Amino acid sequence: MSGEAHDAVFERMQIQRIREEILPLFDRFADGEEAYYDNPCLGRSRDPLRAGPEMCSVSGERHERCWQQVRESRRRSHPDTLCFPIACEECPVYKDARPSIVEELGEELNNMVHLLRRNEREVRSAMNFTRDLAGSLEDLDLENHRIREEMNLDPLTGLYNRRFLDESLEHEVQRCRHRRRHLSLLMLDIDHFKTWNDLHGHLEGDRMLARFGKLLRASIRDYDRAFRFGGEEFVVLFPDTDLEDARAVAERIRMRFEQLVFTVPVTRAFSEGRDSRTISGGVAVYREGLGAMELLELADQALYCAKSTGRNRIESVPLPVVV
Ligand code: GH3
Ligand code: MG
Ligand code: MG
Repeated sequence: MSGEAHDAVFERMQIQRIREEILPLFDRFADGEEAYYDNPCLGRSRDPLRAGPEMCSVSGERHERCWQQVRESRRRSHPDTLCFPIACEECPVYKDARPSIVEELGEELNNMVHLLRRNEREVRSAMNFTRDLAGSLEDLDLENHRIREEMNLDPLTGLYNRRFLDESLEHEVQRCRHRRRHLSLLMLDIDHFKTWNDLHGHLEGDRMLARFGKLLRASIRDYDRAFRFGGEEFVVLFPDTDLEDARAVAERIRMRFEQLVFTVPVTRAFSEGRDSRTISGGVAVYREGLGAMELLELADQALYCAKSTGRNRIESVPLPVVV
């Protein structure tokens, strides 16, 4: 066979190999399969690469073999082969291990897929990191919210505290001013609470306060707010509620509390170990020109009125119109 005919056959074989060995790999990689090009040269070159310098007709006496020397300068002078093209037809490395265009394509494909997979892993880990970060920020947000809520709460009764009352009352009064809405404020005080402490002990006093807090929370709507004003005094804010409705809720709370029976330490005076208390309350309703403190003051006056007229009652300012 002539040289040209031989080249043409070789070329056809290479094209055939590209079709059979390389192109299917693209499809498999695109489908996400863990496929790679199994380079036959690597296996074939294992033994020839062990060949000593005496096998190389170019390197002669030197210790390096020509393919080692050429490897360095390959890109500059002989981009198409590992070895000098001269006199290497006899060299086993040149003959058996020289990669053809098929192997080079396969290796390039392997490298490219390796880089793509690495990038994919990096992107995935960056995405995981971002997701974790978003999760942590969300947790932090919830935690902040919880801390802020806790800062506004009175631990004994579970009601909002005095600090938050000042803030909320100011806010509600502003709202009334700008939007001409109703706002009622109820102030409550446990009757003769000091004697309760004196008779049954401070711990029993705490127990009553906690139970009252529970009763209060259960007796109001979601958008009303109950606060421990201090000691055994409480405030409830009723947005969008007129005097009549606020009085009705206050009465309901008063009656419920009156019906509560507490177990207390058995003593001579309390041989059945049971006792109860009552509450008094004062309601005030916002009217134009009032400030937050003035509204509170009015409810306090109404409460004072309830105390001085016998306790266990609800009074209000202005007094409800009697028809
Ligand atoms: P009144 O009917 O006029 O309201 O009489 P009172 O005895 O309820 O009112 P007074 O203001 O004389 O007493 C309130 C008592 O509440 C005095 C105080 O020791 C008690 N007290 C305040 N805070 C707490 C608390 O957190 N726990 C307990 N157990 N007692 C408290
Ligand atoms: Mg009291
Ligand atoms: Mg009091």
